[in-house]
Amino acid sequence: MKLHEYQSKQIFAKYGIPTQKGRVAATAIEARQIAEELGGRVVIKAQVLVGGRGKAGGVRLAKTPKEAEELATQILSMEIKGLPVRKVLVVPATDIEQEIYLAITNDRAARRPVMMASAAGGVDIEEIARTTPEKIVKIHIDPLLGLRDYQARDIAIGIDLPKDYWKPFVEITRGLWRAYVECDATLAEINPLVITKEKQLLALDAKMLLDDNALFRHPDLAEMRDVDEEAPAETEARKYGLSFIKLDGNIGCMVNGAGLAMTTMDIVKLFGGEPANFLDIGGGASAEKVAAALRIILADPNVKAVLFNIFGGITRCDEVAKGILSALAEVKPQVPMVARLVGTNAEEGRRLLADANMITAETLVEAAKKAVAAAQR
Ligand code: GDP
Ligand code: MN
Repeated sequence: MKLHEYQSKQIFAKYGIPTQKGRVAATAIEARQIAEELGGRVVIKAQVLVGGRGKAGGVRLAKTPKEAEELATQILSMEIKGLPVRKVLVVPATDIEQEIYLAITNDRAARRPVMMASAAGGVDIEEIARTTPEKIVKIHIDPLLGLRDYQARDIAIGIDLPKDYWKPFVEITRGLWRAYVECDATLAEINPLVITKEKQLLALDAKMLLDDNALFRHPDLAEMRDVDEEAPAETEARKYGLSFIKLDGNIGCMVNGAGLAMTTMDIVKLFGGEPANFLDIGGGASAEKVAAALRIILADPNVKAVLFNIFGGITRCDEVAKGILSALAEVKPQVPMVARLVGTNAEEGRRLLADANMITAETLVEAAKKAVAAAQR
C-alpha cells in the first residue's frame, strides 16, 4: 500500500524525523486559509500516489495566500501520470542549501534491508542512479541487530556530510529505521532530506510503501488507504477477498489457488497467449465470489476470452459449476468462456458447463490451447 506524502510525514514525525508543519486541503479556498495561517511563502504540493510531482508541475511556490489559492486551483485540476489530484499539502517554504537522498528498502538479493543515501538528492535521483550509481552509498542492515549508529556515520561520511550534521543525521536514520521496521514498510524514503539555510536537517518530502501482507497488524495504518487513488478493480477485489493483479494480456484467468493461478498463467504463455490478470479466488468458489471475479475480469476491455481453471477438492466440481453458471447468468459475458474443472465430480461439473455453451476441457493444456484460440477469433 502506498501512502501519501502527508501521511508518510505524519509517521516520520512520530519517529522524531523533522518535517514542516502544514496541512492538507481539498479545495483552493482551504489552501488559501492554510497559507494565511502559516504566513509567509508556502509550497503547494499535489498529493498523488506517484513520484515526479515536481517535474510535472505539481509542486509550486506561492508568495501570498492569493497566489496559494490560484496555484491550488491549478494543481487541483491537474492529472499527474494519469492520476487526478484531489488534495494538496500546504507547507511553509524552505530555503535550501543542499538536497540529500535517504531511503531504506529491502534488498531481496542480499536478503536484508539496505539503507541508501546520496549527496545528490532531489528530483534527479533516478537519473543519478542510472548514470552515476557510485554517487549512491549503500549499507546493509542486519535485521536482528538493526541499524547501528556507526553504520549511519559511515553513510554520513560516504555522502561527505559535514561533521556538524552527523548527530541530527544519525537521529534521522534511527527514526527512519524504526518507522520502516515498526510499520512493516517495504520502502521509507526521504527525498530530499535538505540542509536548510538555517543549518537544520529537514525532511522536505516523504514516501512510504507498506507491506499489504502485514497490514492486518496495523489497523491504524490500514485506515490510511486512499481508495480514491486505487484502481477500482483492486478495491473491488479486496472487498471480496480476491487476490487480483491486472496485467496487459487478453486472456482473463479465473483460478482457485495462488500456485495454480501462476501455473495457469505460465501455460497460457506457453501456448502463445498473454494473461490479462493474476487472480486467486481462494477456496470454495462460491457463486458470489465467482460473479465478483468475473465482473472484475470483464471490466478490462482487453479481455477477449476467460479461462477458468478450477480444482474441486473440498468443494465438489458440480457445486463449483453451479456457482459459475449463476455468476454467468448474472454477469452475462460477451466473450468466450473456457473451463477446465478437475477433482471430485468433475465430469458432472463439465457437463453442466457444456450444457450452458461453455467451452470445456479436461486438461490444462487443452484448456489453454482452447482459450488462446478463442481469444484470437
Ligand atoms: P517530488 O517531485 O514528487 O519528489 O516532490 P518533492 O516534494 O520532492 O519536491 C520536488 C522538488 O521541489 C524538491 O526536490 C525541491 O527541489 C523542490 N521543493 C520542494 N519544496 C520546496 C521548498 O520548500 N523550497 C524550495 N526551495 N524548493 C522546494
Ligand atoms: Mn521527492
